[in-house]
Amino acid sequence: MESGFVIDKTGKEFASAPEWAEGAPERSFWMGLKLAGRERHAIVTYRCSACGYLESYAPSM
Ligand SMILES: [Zn+2]
Repeated sequence: MESGFVIDKTGKEFASAPEWAEGAPERSFWMGLKLAGRERHAIVTYRCSACGYLESYAPSM
C-alpha cells in the first residue's frame, strides 16, 4: 500500500471524476496543491446495490 490523497476539485466550474495522487499534500503558492511530477490515478468507486456500501480503487492504467 502506498499513501496518497484524493484531489479535491470542488473549486472547479465543471464536474470531473476524482483522482488519487501519491505522497502527502503540499501547498503550492499559486494554485492549491503541488501536483507536478506525482503519480495520479483516476478513482473508480463500486457501490453495493443492496446496502449502498462504497469501495474505491485507483488502478494503474
Ligand atoms: Zn452491501
